Amino acid sequence: MESQVQPKLIIHGGAGSSLHGKGGLEAVRRSLHTVIEEVYSLLLCGVTASEAVVHGCQMLEDNPRFNAGTGSVLQSDGQIRMSASLMDGASGRFSGVINISRVKNPIELAQFLQNSPDRVLSDFGSAELAREMQIPSYNALTDLRLQEWIQERQDNFKSAMAGVVAEPELVETSNAGRGTIGVVALDAYGRLAAGTSTGGKGFERIGRVSDSAMPAGNYATSNAGVSCTGIGEDIIDECLAPRIVVRVTDGMSLKEAMQRSFGEAHQNKRDLGAIALDASGAIAWGKTSEILLAAYHDGEKVGDTLEWTDNELIGYC
Ligand code: ASP
Repeated sequence: MESQVQPKLIIHGGAGSSLHGKGGLEAVRRSLHTVIEEVYSLLLCGVTASEAVVHGCQMLEDNPRFNAGTGSVLQSDGQIRMSASLMDGASGRFSGVINISRVKNPIELAQFLQNSPDRVLSDFGSAELAREMQIPSYNALTDLRLQEWIQERQDNFKSAMAGVVAEPELVETSNAGRGTIGVVALDAYGRLAAGTSTGGKGFERIGRVSDSAMPAGNYATSNAGVSCTGIGEDIIDECLAPRIVVRVTDGMSLKEAMQRSFGEAHQNKRDLGAIALDASGAIAWGKTSEILLAAYHDGEKVGDTLEWTDNELIGYC
């Protein structure tokens, strides 16, 4: 296939309340920019949007700072259960795993399921699949996440969610935050894909299902792709990712679709964020929460949203 378009890439490391301290912000910036640079160079070499998304998600899952893969938050019973999904916009196919334990990269299972007749598996089925794929057992627990859970347990689980990023100087002490990861890519052939991976919102009931492995939180077609973060219940109630994608499909610009959708989410008092790309190469991000940890490559340069704290609901380029 002839390469026709300039690739675009946007990633996120969660949304929530403000990061404490500039040192932490620079560390998060370095983490996000490293992923952007590596994945963008793969896109320039001609990998597909889905391959780029999986690679980016793996890198973010492997970074203990973020709440996905290694560094996932613990649920109310002190266990880690992760969820991830991949949607290939070109094939229009969604796949994912819900509440899987003891694997390093949940996005790998979502990728495998792209070509399976059964494309979304829950806990027991995901564990069976990991066994069939001969994926080695892996403990995603980090000391920081354990300490965070022990602290919450002492406080009787009064926070609605776990810290946005696992960083001693950054871990939220009062206000809630999140740290799910997501990647949306437009490849050199004009194909879009979106992937999202999470440890959940933290301290949740056993069996709670995250938006990250539902189309509500991760959706792509040949027109647009979106990955969401924030309180999963709010994302599900807004049906945020398809809401934006369908608006673009029906003729709105990505900017208008984001403006409309985030205006509604704000009015409905939701706490969430999202990153998005469309087939024309437009890049956009939005939040109703205080901060969104996102970075992008527009073909010319790398940018990020880490110091975006004004009252605008969306940004774009
Ligand atoms: N959306 C995720 C969930 O509710 C959490 C997050 O984005 O950090 O499971």
